[in-house]
Amino acid sequence: MHTIEVAGVEIDTRHYVNGQRLASPETYTNTSPIDGTFLGEISRGDSDAVDAAVAAARAAFPAWAALGPKKRGELLNKLADLVEENVETLANIETLDNGALLRSHLRGVMPRVAMNIRFFADYAINDLHHDVFETRGHTNNVSWDPSGVAALITPWNAPLMLATWKIGPALAAGDTVVLKPAEWTPLTASYFADLTKRAGIPDGVFNVVFGYGSEAGAALTAHTGISRISFTGSVPTAKIIAHSAADNLTPVSFELGGKSPCIIMADADLDLAAEIAVEQYDNAGQVCLSGTRILVHESIADVFADKFREKAAALVQGDPRDPATDIGPQIHQVHFDRIKGFVDRATAEGHDIVWGGGPNEELGGLYFRPTLVKNPTPGSEVLTSEIFGPVLAMQTFTTDDEVIAMANGTEFGLAAVVVSGDRVHAKRITDQLVAGTIWVNCFFVRDLRAPFGGSKKSGIGRDGGTWSFDFYADVKNTVISPNGWKE
Ligand code: NAD
Repeated sequence: MHTIEVAGVEIDTRHYVNGQRLASPETYTNTSPIDGTFLGEISRGDSDAVDAAVAAARAAFPAWAALGPKKRGELLNKLADLVEENVETLANIETLDNGALLRSHLRGVMPRVAMNIRFFADYAINDLHHDVFETRGHTNNVSWDPSGVAALITPWNAPLMLATWKIGPALAAGDTVVLKPAEWTPLTASYFADLTKRAGIPDGVFNVVFGYGSEAGAALTAHTGISRISFTGSVPTAKIIAHSAADNLTPVSFELGGKSPCIIMADADLDLAAEIAVEQYDNAGQVCLSGTRILVHESIADVFADKFREKAAALVQGDPRDPATDIGPQIHQVHFDRIKGFVDRATAEGHDIVWGGGPNEELGGLYFRPTLVKNPTPGSEVLTSEIFGPVLAMQTFTTDDEVIAMANGTEFGLAAVVVSGDRVHAKRITDQLVAGTIWVNCFFVRDLRAPFGGSKKSGIGRDGGTWSFDFYADVKNTVISPNGWKE
């Protein structure tokens, strides 16, 4: 059997290569984080599967590149239409596979998947241009040429959503694609591959290889036939991929982890602040952008903490398919144990665990209670390491200089949140923060025209608008002299 049935549709568990399904000799087991249900056996990609996928993508590249943005855009818009028509199916598949809230997948995430494809397809047609500029009468013409095969490696916390931030611009730029989704969440990538076929995307333009990072992922990133590596995942994996990319000098784009601050200023609207702070538990804390370090001005710390507690206590933990649920399970036992390790060590070290602090015993399985650690010792791992679970730390500060030092005091620089009632004061703070994205009095607002990425160890490069095309395409400048023309 090479299929899994979810929500009335059959999902193929084999790789998608050159428009066909391809099985590897080995498989691995996929289970649902919701209740541990066995979902199926997934093809465990090896270098043979990767070779086949890269060969297919290379063979398809010249014709796809030659189509041009407009014709590619028609096919990609058809793909976006199909995603929109299948939002419910995609949402059900993703929730079963990664345990994130069905209501979020239905309302926000899957419609955004369609938007990701549509946005970059249309951007390539309408917005990708550079003003011609003159140098002593010579004109400089900048263009974005397709570069070849883009290898895309993605994580499990928002599988299809994050993959299409890459697939959209790569295909719109005229590259062909080999996607290696995270081993714990292969299913939406497979169904999406079927949609690319139905949309009429030519065989070989989009390929998927399943399997482990150390096998399929390593073979893909080391491949000499690829022209780009776009990776979203953890810092340790990025370091391995960077070594592999160095051998072939393959350009990389890295979207990595974070340990972002959520700063509550003394002048903040404290109801808004509490609401934003509670949002940091979204997706059971498995969000790279989460402001997991709540930094509160001392003068309002007690009032804020009461409001925060009230809102956090109202969060409902349970089955992510239930519309009433706010916090679902963690992705996998391995990840659950890692989170528990952080909290157990914090407890053993005598940190003040204000609420949560362990598994939800009533629900069992992979459900970890939303947890708050108050005033951990500076330098302790709950303040410096990315836990990637529903574990927040709260600290107080008294001066701007102090909070800026605290906010910038990790190796990460992905995001920051500032809650303030004073625009001038808020700007003084944001000007000094090191982060790829800063949200002021809001969280998670993302426009695809805007740059997105991390500073310091949180990443290399930026996605969004022209930044995405600058990466996936070969950017070319053609300088034309006023002399020598025969007309
Ligand atoms: P991970 O690094 O373990 O795995 C990510 C992907 O890399 C998976 O597909 C995995 O199979 C693959 N991989 C693993 N080893 C590999 C290797 N040697 N060669 C090639 N590929 C390999 O990360 P994860 O646990 O899946 O995801 C969580 C991490 O992702 C967190 O650090 C989180 O912050 C980060 N993340 C970042 C963003 C962002 O936009 N900055 C978004 C989501 C998640």
